Amino acid sequence: MSFFPRISLRPEVTDYLKGVFLNNELLASVGRHEAERRFETLLTCLSHPPSSTCVRASVHLAPLGEIRHKLCEELKKVSRHVHEDSRVHVCVGVGQHTEELQVLPHPSVPDVLLLPVDGPRCVQQLSKEVVVGAQCGNAVLRGAHVFAPGMLACPKHMKAGDVVSVFSDLEGKCTRGAFSFHGKRVFVGNGVAEKDRSSIFCSGEPARGVGIRMIEPLYATPSFDGLLPQLVFLQNLPSVVVGHVLGPRPGERILDMCAAPGGKTCHIATLMRDQGEVVALERISNKMELIRQNAQTLQLRCIKAFCFNSTRAVSEHSNPEAEEPPFPPESFDRILLDAPCSGLGQRPNMASTWNLKEICSFAPLQRKLFQAAVQLLKKGGVLVYSTCTVTLAENEEQVAWALRTFPCLKLQSQEPHIGAEGMPGAGLAQEQLRLLQRFRPELSWEQVAAGAPLSCRANSDTIGFFIAKFQKT
Ligand code: SAM
Repeated sequence: MSFFPRISLRPEVTDYLKGVFLNNELLASVGRHEAERRFETLLTCLSHPPSSTCVRASVHLAPLGEIRHKLCEELKKVSRHVHEDSRVHVCVGVGQHTEELQVLPHPSVPDVLLLPVDGPRCVQQLSKEVVVGAQCGNAVLRGAHVFAPGMLACPKHMKAGDVVSVFSDLEGKCTRGAFSFHGKRVFVGNGVAEKDRSSIFCSGEPARGVGIRMIEPLYATPSFDGLLPQLVFLQNLPSVVVGHVLGPRPGERILDMCAAPGGKTCHIATLMRDQGEVVALERISNKMELIRQNAQTLQLRCIKAFCFNSTRAVSEHSNPEAEEPPFPPESFDRILLDAPCSGLGQRPNMASTWNLKEICSFAPLQRKLFQAAVQLLKKGGVLVYSTCTVTLAENEEQVAWALRTFPCLKLQSQEPHIGAEGMPGAGLAQEQLRLLQRFRPELSWEQVAAGAPLSCRANSDTIGFFIAKFQKT
């Protein structure tokens, strides 16, 4: 764990989170020592990627075993290709020998394949340095190559074919087009430049495509760029769990209120065997296009995507025939509200520059969206609320508010339930907390050392995530 520091947050945000994780209810429940351990673990985990990569298999197109076999074959090809590259001794995250390749079915999530992440590894830094944006750096730590738009600084005479060290600019202070940068940065691995410096920064048009092909990443796991795009979809494990918890059935009408880029929308349609209707709403039009592209790639025809503000998705005039938003009340059998949130569960995240006001700005929007969701849900219908953050205000406190505000809602148990239960601190009863699913990143290094199987580690070493399931009575 000594490769990166813990996540760097503004002091006011660290204090706020400490207050959340050391709240009186939690202290009374687990004791100060355990509460402090969880908080420290969280801060450390956040700056590192999970120790496994999760892909969702398109089981509507082929059986899981067949997809797994095809994926293994593709990964072997990539591995062979990279090993033939004589410039540097390399590893592509599937072991240095193809026999070591591991792609395992998840034991309880039927459409998930898991691959181990090897890292942090000992990688020697080189004299030529490239600096990339933090988002790009985070993607590299999860197996991606460096795409040209993410590049900020590179040496004056960098040519295609040069072997370079890649650093992530933690505070967004590096100027695009700089020759070098010595601000707060972190080493993420070595790669080969695919383009000259001049074609990245000076060609007049924004550069596209891979800028640096990673050959010695600090965390080795395959890049899924262009790898069996119809059959495998890179998705965090808790995000796949959400689709199963929603439990869509063929022929139903489902609403995904905050849908882009459409990972969960496509999963829902897959679980429905592409029969019925999935309405996907997204406020930002470019992002909405991603939903359509993903649906097309995965050959899912039952998805209808609209650019729309979901807080306004309930129509005042009831038109039961409405096929486009806004919709009349009680239009949907199931609704997913995967809410916009502070994203503090995302991994890896080495630094967040957000202030407390920004972090606290999501709860009111989430409540507006929730209100619309309750109206749009049919009686007897299911509503799933999820976030990829760790605060109480956006998770358990929203559940407590929802149960107070909408007596028609009842909390439901979740299947599968592989995360922890809800966190005390919002006044929910123990039996209510048991119905909530909180993915609390836990270090798996001890488990690795103890030889715990990948499938066990994968359930606890995830991004931070929260799921609540309600039924409208
Ligand atoms: N469910 C998505 C998936 O699995 O791919 C991820 C959704 S992301 C957490 C939240 C999304 O909600 C963002 O794309 C954001 O642009 C969108 N959003 C935010 N406010 C919205 C609103 N009022 N109406 C519709 N979409 C909104």
